[in-house]
Amino acid sequence: MHQIPHYLDGKIVTGRSERVAPVYNPATGEQHAQVCLASADEAREAVRIADEAFAEWSKVSPLKRARVLFRFKALVEQHADEIATLISQEHGKVFSDARGELTRGLEVVEFACGIPHLQKGEHSMNVGSGVDSFSLMQPLGVCAGISPFNFPAMVPMWMFPIALACGNTFVMKPSEKDPSTPLRLAELLTEAGLPDGVFNVINGDKEAVDVLLTDERVQAVSFVGSTPIAESIYATGSAHGKRVQALGGAKNHMVIMPDADLDQAVDALMGAAYGSAGERCMAISVAVPVGEQTAERLRGKLVEKLATLRVGPGLVDGPDNDMGPLVTREHLEKVRGYIQTGVDEGAELVIDGRETVVDNAGNGFFIGGTLFDHVKPGMRIHREEIFGPVLAIARAASFDEAVAMINAHEYGNGTAIFTRDGDAARQYCERIQVGMVGVNVPIPVPMAFHSFGGWKRSLFGPLHMHGPDGVRFYTRMKTITQRWPSGIREETNHFTMPTH
Ligand code: NAD
Repeated sequence: MHQIPHYLDGKIVTGRSERVAPVYNPATGEQHAQVCLASADEAREAVRIADEAFAEWSKVSPLKRARVLFRFKALVEQHADEIATLISQEHGKVFSDARGELTRGLEVVEFACGIPHLQKGEHSMNVGSGVDSFSLMQPLGVCAGISPFNFPAMVPMWMFPIALACGNTFVMKPSEKDPSTPLRLAELLTEAGLPDGVFNVINGDKEAVDVLLTDERVQAVSFVGSTPIAESIYATGSAHGKRVQALGGAKNHMVIMPDADLDQAVDALMGAAYGSAGERCMAISVAVPVGEQTAERLRGKLVEKLATLRVGPGLVDGPDNDMGPLVTREHLEKVRGYIQTGVDEGAELVIDGRETVVDNAGNGFFIGGTLFDHVKPGMRIHREEIFGPVLAIARAASFDEAVAMINAHEYGNGTAIFTRDGDAARQYCERIQVGMVGVNVPIPVPMAFHSFGGWKRSLFGPLHMHGPDGVRFYTRMKTITQRWPSGIREETNHFTMPTH
């Protein structure tokens, strides 16, 4: 059985602990590898290596750090098909979608290449007579990243390119469900000229994560995953004096106004609800048509479109499927369970993905696109994140009712409104309690040079990921006020508060 190791000090390192976890190919249902789960000692070793590498790397000029990232970008582009295949083999998503996530990750690398400009700090002359003030944006030290299974390339790439560009060293702990991609990225960083020890990958589970949250040499922790884990990561990391950004789960609503272009809205919904089998934190899982007529028309068009949804393996000869399998059998059973819960709660199951027949499914973890109607706030299938290809229609009588339903929800990651009315769109942007909003855009993921983050229980911590917030997160501001007066030795002591 192929063993997925760690990457420490510029080299592949086989795990020393006896513990391993299975890694599956979700399209066949077969175990394709086993991943080493690090012991606490192995995780501490990764932190030690990163800590030692910090002294040198933090002194490398930002220009030279950026040049490593320029070379890394070129290498990832060169190996893009190979990496997308790795992603699809362990995650299950279709090849074009895997290429897409890699592209979004590369955009963060491109942003990080601008670090000589981004990390300049500020300078004011003569803040008092003969007194200058300037700020330095200094790197923190060892930073840690803990990522979820659903974006094995993009989410780590939200984190480490900016952290490294700022002069930090890094320990990455990928999801144990699809751990191969970050290892390949680590090899390419070394090939790009990153000094050994600056970027390390430690595979594992809670045992390794607990070290990253408590070891005093780790300065900052970036986490992306489910809300209960995000909340505990934030609490533990903060209690140990680290800065923490912990992004959690989501339940994203799309409001469809009576004046929306319904064909456009339905096309957008199909991709946003069923793309990547709904395993996206920005997936739309609730459609909120305003008014009964809009609801009926929307439902009719969705039913038509769902009949054409192509479900199948992520890697095929010929045109891609629309949607691949779920990541594990356990997750498949969870999603199937949620569909039953919806039925038991009294929602109308319009299309049942459990009955979808998938060609070449073998023992793969497949389920078809599912549609519920008449879903009400309070039902578990409205309250909880299903993280599968299950779209709920929750009808609203008015714009205000739609806004209230979304604002009352515990999550606030992403949302969208489809309308031709500029005033409705503007009001929506102002009143909605959600971090990322799309107007006639179904998945409003901010570009790399903006920052990504939700509100409410979708994000713990003040700073969003990548973009300007990313640079703030991975640097510490130091402000220096200096005076070089002539004849300072003659000055008498001052005992009053300095006011310049
Ligand atoms: P998860 O919370 O199960 O795992 C995330 C990471 O935490 C993994 O590396 C895992 O090994 C680790 N982990 C799991 N349990 C742990 C524990 N008890 N202690 C310490 N570490 C632990 O999430 P997942 O199933 O891999 O990913 C799906 C979730 O991620 C969904 O809820 C999704 O919405 C969320 N997500 C959010 C965003 C966002 O930007 N807000 C982006 C992607 C995914």
